[in-house]
Amino acid sequence: MPSGGTRGQLGITQGHSNSVTDREILLQSGQKLSFDYLAIATGLQQPLPAKMSSPHKDEACADLRSLRMKIQQAIPCVGATPNTKFLSSFIPSNFSKTTGRILVRQTLQLAGDAHLDTFALGDVAETEGPKMGRTAMAQAELVCENILALIKGTKLRPYKPKAIDGMLKLTLGPEHSVIYVKDGKGADIMVPIKSSNLDLEVAQAWWYLNGDMKAEIVN
Ligand SMILES: Cc1cc2nc3c(=O)[nH]c(=O)nc-3n(C[C@H](O)[C@H](O)[C@H](O)COP(=O)(O)OP(=O)(O)OC[C@H]3O[C@@H](n4cnc5c(N)ncnc54)[C@H](O)[C@@H]3O)c2cc1C
Repeated sequence: MPSGGTRGQLGITQGHSNSVTDREILLQSGQKLSFDYLAIATGLQQPLPAKMSSPHKDEACADLRSLRMKIQQAIPCVGATPNTKFLSSFIPSNFSKTTGRILVRQTLQLAGDAHLDTFALGDVAETEGPKMGRTAMAQAELVCENILALIKGTKLRPYKPKAIDGMLKLTLGPEHSVIYVKDGKGADIMVPIKSSNLDLEVAQAWWYLNGDMKAEIVN
């Protein structure tokens, strides 16, 4: 729930989008969702096991189980492509010729003047930030702020990558890990850390996704 929001204000619809028009998203189920502002964060398409094709846990687990058999013969190592097919009629020419990612302004609004109420962020967007989880989260916060700024008629903020957006954490067993980050001047910084958190931060990941870990374990 966004701060300042009231119960019932926020709705979540999960589904695969086949196409987008000027004011509507068409889902595979046939459902249409209308929008005033749109944020596109569809990431990259990658084969299993990097990405699951189904958003449903049971189907994704079944896909992984069947892959386990095939993996004994070959491990898929092919590259990733941005998930933009469903946008081909909405923004036919707004893609980088080299990466296929969506071209954006610094405010993460789509490049050009035709769709200033539409944003792209994360792996699918052509930004200066690293293609990593922290970048996607920082950009999501910025897009929320910028949509509010459009509604209020105030100034939008540009995305400026921070060194922490590209931070790597390498776990070295249950307690030890090392954090690596390149500072603003390109110098490598490596910091060893010790944690008493033995769950490898699984609980934190569930918290980020607003999931109920205990309920899932019981089921
Ligand atoms: C194997 C692997 C390991 C990684 N390890 C790290 C790491 O250690 N640290 C790190 O910071 N980053 C890591 N990354 C990168 C990180 O996962 C991505 O940078 C990050 O998830 C990008 O977030 P995103 O929201 O842009 O896209 P995603 O997280 O890919 O989310 C995109 C979502 O859009 C949905 N979607 C796609 N197409 C449609 C459609 N047509 N309609 C509706 N929904 C759609 C997808 O189902 C998905 O849920 C890793 C990536 C991989 C593949």
